[in-house]
Amino acid sequence: MKSIFAGQALLPNGLTKNVRLHVNETGIITSIETGVEPRAGEISGKDKLICPAPANLHSHAFQRAMAGMTEVRQKGKGSFWTWRELMYRFLGKLGPEQVEAIAALVYMEMLEAGYASVGEFHYLHHQPDGTPYANLAEMSNRIFAAASQTGIGLTHLPVLYSYGGAGEQALSGGQLRFGNDLDRHLQLIEAADKSLTNSLPSDCQVGIAPHSLRATNPEQLRLIAETFAGKPVHIHISEQMKEVEAVQEWLGARPIEWLLDNVDVRDNWCFVHATHMTQAETIAMAKAGAVAGLCPITEANLGDGIFNGPTFIEAGGVYGIGSDSNLRISLAEELRILEYSQRLRDQSRNVMLLGEGSVGTALFQAAAKGGAQALGRNTGVLAKGYLADIVAIDSSRVEFTGLKPNQYLDYWIFAGDDRVVTDVWSAGRHMVQNGQHIHRQEITAKYREQLAVLLEAA
Ligand code: ZN
Repeated sequence: MKSIFAGQALLPNGLTKNVRLHVNETGIITSIETGVEPRAGEISGKDKLICPAPANLHSHAFQRAMAGMTEVRQKGKGSFWTWRELMYRFLGKLGPEQVEAIAALVYMEMLEAGYASVGEFHYLHHQPDGTPYANLAEMSNRIFAAASQTGIGLTHLPVLYSYGGAGEQALSGGQLRFGNDLDRHLQLIEAADKSLTNSLPSDCQVGIAPHSLRATNPEQLRLIAETFAGKPVHIHISEQMKEVEAVQEWLGARPIEWLLDNVDVRDNWCFVHATHMTQAETIAMAKAGAVAGLCPITEANLGDGIFNGPTFIEAGGVYGIGSDSNLRISLAEELRILEYSQRLRDQSRNVMLLGEGSVGTALFQAAAKGGAQALGRNTGVLAKGYLADIVAIDSSRVEFTGLKPNQYLDYWIFAGDDRVVTDVWSAGRHMVQNGQHIHRQEITAKYREQLAVLLEAA
């Protein structure tokens, strides 16, 4: 049992002064006291604001090592599809050791940015030529090792990738490493599940991720909906217009329209991107309860398009955020770009909230609740019975001078950066202290070492 004190806390009924949280050994908040004085030696402090730390609901850890390598214009115009070619070439060289080192760096950076947990959309399963490793779950185990070292809360989402394109096209080239039919994929999940139970704390779990409509087929999706009812199911959807058109030609409907009409989609589903939607699709998706998994930095980087925010939240839709390609890991900046993309399109301000109030707080709370739902994680609010996923920001920093506590989150999201984050707990594990991950040195040293191995192989 431990206790955490803060001068300000964002509780479900609003900002509250002088709060103490009691947290048990499994990372659950057992009680909350308000209007109390700090005790000597207690964690956190008078000048800190603590908030529920959101989940990063969508990550491909290995892509972190490509950041900065794809911003060069070559003959013709760069597109998502030319970016994907480069990504395939890059991952042709990655082995298990490198994946573990890159994932550890990424998860450390996520924690330092204020996220407490991650949904790892994991599709790098096999050796470069498509042959499985001796242990089918080898690569999943490397992700678990990275989660264990960093202390992040993991929802592991092994990706089912059976086809190379819409209409059951064969896999080719860079896709061979991802490929499984449903039978082998279920074996992989079983092995991963066993291994996760043995190696990670009880807040971590395994779900499933049918990669997209183009990489799966209708029978597989129906079976997954049935088999994984109540568990996290994530799918990439409607990221690019070319994808929407290909699915329309194959199945006679747009991706979200088809999925909602033909598969039993419930609130355990997360639609990642959901960029290109008609008004009717937007409303239907909100009503179905699926979480919109928005990745604003990556979506901007890849030129995907802009999410239909106002219609979605008006219809009661739930969303969370993810860092997807991990080219930049910043919780504040994901929320900022989400809001700014809406403003630029609508020539308006303060878009992503219903009614009146602080947009920063609305974005933050929505992302915390939506991320928790998408990860099947008992978190998203600071309240009794929930996991102690907590981020603390330091309001004694010079940039907060002159601001009231109810403006701190607006400052952090619209004007600040990750430097304001002082502490992060994931299910009570105090992994970020004084703004740094407690294993930063070992993790960065290992990353440098493994990147050198990777470059030598290039
Ligand atoms: Zn993705």
